[in-house]
Amino acid sequence: MAVYTQVRFLTSANKLSQLPPDAGAEVAVAGRSNAGKSSAINAIAHRRKLAFTSKTPGRTQQIVMFRLPGGQYLVDLPGYGYAKVPDNLRRHWERTLGQYLATRGSLQGLALIMDARHPMTDLDRRMLDWFAPTGRPIHVLLTKADKLGRAEGTRTLASVRRALAKWGKQCTAQLFSSTSKVGIDEAEGVLAGWLGIAPEPSRAATQAKKSPSGEARAGTRRPRAKGDKHEAEMP
Ligand code: GDP
Repeated sequence: MAVYTQVRFLTSANKLSQLPPDAGAEVAVAGRSNAGKSSAINAIAHRRKLAFTSKTPGRTQQIVMFRLPGGQYLVDLPGYGYAKVPDNLRRHWERTLGQYLATRGSLQGLALIMDARHPMTDLDRRMLDWFAPTGRPIHVLLTKADKLGRAEGTRTLASVRRALAKWGKQCTAQLFSSTSKVGIDEAEGVLAGWLGIAPEPSRAATQAKKSPSGEARAGTRRPRAKGDKHEAEMP
């Protein structure tokens, strides 16, 4: 969706008191280190380097906030589960994350990133334990789906959905791949719904509206007029 291409870095915070006021609407993105969280954020924003992507897991230990043009926030939470993080830092983040998830009123939902090859780890389950009781929705992106065959992907998705049922009906899941661009529209749609962003009209509907005479029927083309939007204009 075009709205995500206009997402901008706002701030990064080490503690909750550094976050912008708890007003409006935001969605958080969380996941185990190296699950593909930064790549997923970049894919959704159609940007290569919005979120820092690294082969060294656990380096980003901050809450990073991005702002959408309508004033909503996309919140990149620190990756969890990196073995080499010192215990005191790990405890700090567990407390901070737990507190953020439990108390942030503007938080509309949680996108939980899991590597499709190793989903539902103990720490993922702990995130679900923390957040599900708030009653707000959780959408699991099973990333790196390109590394699974089609049948395996379908099987994994079904088994994750079954497992998620334990945390309630507000938990949903989908396959996703930043590399092969699988599931991006679906993920964008779910987050947009949480943030109150109106769906974009489909291209067919837009064309039909512009061209009541029926020029937009399949197989017909009209010359491009000045000011027409075109897909290739996306950054
Ligand atoms: P993060 O630590 O969760 O933010 O993970 P990153 O986004 O930094 O990704 C970790 C590694 O997985 C990097 O080497 C990425 O290139 C790779 N990766 C991320 N998403 C995908 C994906 O959808 N498919 C494949 N094949 N690799 C991915």
